[in-house]
Amino acid sequence: MQRFDAIFIGAGQASPSLAARMAERGMTVALVERKFLGGTCVNAGCMPTKTLVASARAAHVSRRAGAFGVTITGEISVDMQAVRQRAHQITMDARNGLSEWLGTTDGIVIIYGHARFAAPDRIAVNGDTLTAPRIFLNVGARPVIPDLPGIADVDYLTSTSILDIDTLPRHLAIIGGSYIGLEFAQMYRRFGSQVTVIERGARIASREDEDVSEALRDILEAEDISVRTGAERVAFARHGDGTRVSMDGIDIEASHVLVATGRKPNTDELGLDTAGVNVDGRGYILVDDKLATNVPGIWALGDCNGRGAFTHTSYNDFEIVAANLLDDEDRKVSSRIPAYALYTDPPLGRVGMTEREAAAAGRNVLVSTRPMARVGRARERDETRGFMKVVADADTREILGAAILGIEGDEAIHGIIDAMSAGTRYTDLQWSVPIHPTVSELIPTLLRGLR
Ligand SMILES: Cc1cc2nc3c(=O)[nH]c(=O)nc-3n(C[C@H](O)[C@H](O)[C@H](O)COP(=O)(O)OP(=O)(O)OC[C@H]3O[C@@H](n4cnc5c(N)ncnc54)[C@H](O)[C@@H]3O)c2cc1C
Repeated sequence: MQRFDAIFIGAGQASPSLAARMAERGMTVALVERKFLGGTCVNAGCMPTKTLVASARAAHVSRRAGAFGVTITGEISVDMQAVRQRAHQITMDARNGLSEWLGTTDGIVIIYGHARFAAPDRIAVNGDTLTAPRIFLNVGARPVIPDLPGIADVDYLTSTSILDIDTLPRHLAIIGGSYIGLEFAQMYRRFGSQVTVIERGARIASREDEDVSEALRDILEAEDISVRTGAERVAFARHGDGTRVSMDGIDIEASHVLVATGRKPNTDELGLDTAGVNVDGRGYILVDDKLATNVPGIWALGDCNGRGAFTHTSYNDFEIVAANLLDDEDRKVSSRIPAYALYTDPPLGRVGMTEREAAAAGRNVLVSTRPMARVGRARERDETRGFMKVVADADTREILGAAILGIEGDEAIHGIIDAMSAGTRYTDLQWSVPIHPTVSELIPTLLRGLR
């Protein structure tokens, strides 16, 4: 039996920083990881995909060079091996950086292997037993494969396995029109594939307001991506060296199929029942406002607790636990304002409630929208697609939420994230004086338009 002050299962976005903070305090820490340090974000999520998005954008901008008076002689082509290698290198740099940092931090022992509870304070890994009074679960999530007819008979890709391909799919069919699927759709279209997005719901990115979903669809269709919403009875069959995807009497012959229909928590192989840790119906670990589970001495952080599905929410879980356990502060997950981005180009930056959510919450809703065509920066760069939208409460003057679908929307949204975090009323923010020419400069005008 090896004794530690703390055991971490999974080296995702929360564990490394919390483990390092504890080690700094002189505690002994075991960090158990079954695959790669850095988890999904570094190895199969944000970092490789945003690197691929950057390559896809370079191809797109090159093809449009003529519109800017720049002449490129010769054909613009994409070297998929080089594209993949670039993404792989960025991942490896981050993974190796983590390995060097954690591997040289006194007090941290890294153990590679699959961990499972043997008792509420005991973990079995590689035939050994570890024990600690504090155990932190940061096990993340993995892609869900829906039980659709014929799917087991065909070769399909997930958001993880598609990162290994270094050839160009002739026709990529993407099952699922949400964030991950849409990012891959535009990226592969820009690499040169024919792309079809197949979504069961009535619209893509269905968590967003309808106007956002529609504008996103316009952006994708303008690049000749085929978007099929309301797709019922989706089925798969082998066809030559590819796959026939059928829906509602329509057949698509795809060379490759990407299944992007959601993710589920890695909590089913952890022995949580042995420890008595409660999960909800979908396997997410139930936690309180400080991320403690129902079992004293066990916490759950990151995607596996169902309170966030992003790198920044997992990292913020670390900050919450560290503040409460180590810094004698009182921090709660319920204080977090939801914010995220969808990395299409232009991206969608989002914070807080949608208009629909605000109305459903019984707020006295004010809304303002402005097209990106009104933004000088967007016109100068000839990227005027999209719009910005803000939702506020007429009674309290709170900003309830915002969406910026447009060039640099993922950055510009931070002006509103910060204002909301600081509790700034829209009546104050609408008189700030932004810098010209930026995307953010339209925000005060947007707020003055609230009706
Ligand atoms: C394609 C894609 C793109 C994404 N893009 C973005 C983005 O742009 N921005 C963003 O914020 N988020 C993005 N995300 C989501 C983001 O990657 C995750 O929210 C984030 O990585 C969650 O981190 P985590 O700390 O919960 O766990 P993870 O990073 O998933 O890490 C969990 C770790 O636990 C390990 N593990 C699991 N079970 C065990 C066990 N029993 N024993 C030992 N080890 C175990 C796993 O191997 C893994 O390394 C993306 C995700 C995907 C799939």
